[in-house]
Amino acid sequence: MNVITNYFRSLLLWELFVGLKLTGRYFFATKITVQYPEEKTPQSFRFRGLHALRRYANGEERCIACKLCEAVCPALAITIDSAPRDDGTRRTTRYDIDLFKCIYCGFCEEACPVDAIVETRLFEYHFESREGTVMTKDKLLAMGDRYEKQIAADRTHDAAYR
Ligand code: SF4
Ligand code: SF4
Repeated sequence: MNVITNYFRSLLLWELFVGLKLTGRYFFATKITVQYPEEKTPQSFRFRGLHALRRYANGEERCIACKLCEAVCPALAITIDSAPRDDGTRRTTRYDIDLFKCIYCGFCEEACPVDAIVETRLFEYHFESREGTVMTKDKLLAMGDRYEKQIAADRTHDAAYR
């Protein structure tokens, strides 16, 4: 009996119509696919993207070279060197984050007592050389200067939820 049923199913292209029925159902259904990059999904204010180092409003860098972020980083991605300045305060002379090692866990951000190292919402970036994978202090500060408005707004928003 099965042989006969299968024979007629093959003859009448039964599987083809079953497949077309499924195609037709999804063709007219509401589309849920996001057409990236033209369309983007909403981002959380806690999104953990590319890092930045922040400054105070007077232009002074926030980082006090305490190295807590370096100590807490589970991927050993942060390398800091520091030295005292003429005014007696300590500042970093080198602050590197190796993005090939970083797992974007956000621990550095959590550990920082002065809100200096943060993760921005930026996730669309690429590298053109091996050296480009290391975020140096200059690059991190430039990121902070560029996105400070968004960073500050996200921290205010976050504090309201804690
Ligand atoms: S996000 Fe996590 S892995 Fe990346 S530098 Fe910070 S602590 Fe290290
Ligand atoms: S970024 Fe924050 S935690 Fe890291 S060394 Fe600077 S002050 Fe300390």
